[in-house]
Amino acid sequence: MESIAPNLKKYQGQLPGHCRLIAVSKTKPVEMIAEAYALGQRDFGENKVQELVDKQALLPNDIQWHMIGHLQRNKVKFIAPFVALIHAVDSGRLLSEINKQAIKNDRVIDCLLQVHIAEEESKFGWSAESLLEFVRGKEPDNYTHIRIRGLMGMATNTDDELQVRKEFKRLKSLFDELKKMGDTDRVSMQELSMGMTSDFKIAVEEGSTMVRIGTAIFGDRVRK
Ligand SMILES: *Cc1c(COP(=O)(O)O)cnc(C)c1O
Repeated sequence: MESIAPNLKKYQGQLPGHCRLIAVSKTKPVEMIAEAYALGQRDFGENKVQELVDKQALLPNDIQWHMIGHLQRNKVKFIAPFVALIHAVDSGRLLSEINKQAIKNDRVIDCLLQVHIAEEESKFGWSAESLLEFVRGKEPDNYTHIRIRGLMGMATNTDDELQVRKEFKRLKSLFDELKKMGDTDRVSMQELSMGMTSDFKIAVEEGSTMVRIGTAIFGDRVRK
């Protein structure tokens, strides 16, 4: 197994202090995660519930596990006991289920709302309008055991840097608009999760507080 130490150091070193590195370990073995852990990395991202649960059981308890992928409501219960942050909450119905499972586990679960910023059709997420309406309408107050900590978005998968930058700018300005509305018990705009291997530099320039980097740290993923 090739050492990931040089990659990890390189990317940790490139990020400004206010931006956290989420090491995206999906499809990678626990040995690699353990190596990153030994190097001081504590935040890891996975996009499949079963894989996340399996890995969590085998690795140290002080790892912060980030669920970064699309989450089905019937699977929330498996990660609710331990997940640190759910990045891709794309509906009120999903929030409602997370709230229910958080109550069962007697904890408050931190969430980010995923905003649809890409021009591509396939991506999940709220539109800016529906999200503003949701927050202005005080809907989050219904969910006593969740805390909305910010927003997450994925830019169009393209080499066109201007396009990517435009999409990140749009997400940042929505973030700022929501932040201006002020904190409530349920909503506190602190985190902006944007940027992955191909576009994290642009994302950081545009105000990201969390980048989700997989390939650049762990190498290419083999598709099953
Ligand atoms: C896989 C994944 C990433 C990381 O992608 P890389 O290109 O390997 O850095 C980031 N965010 C989400 C939501 C992912 O599913």
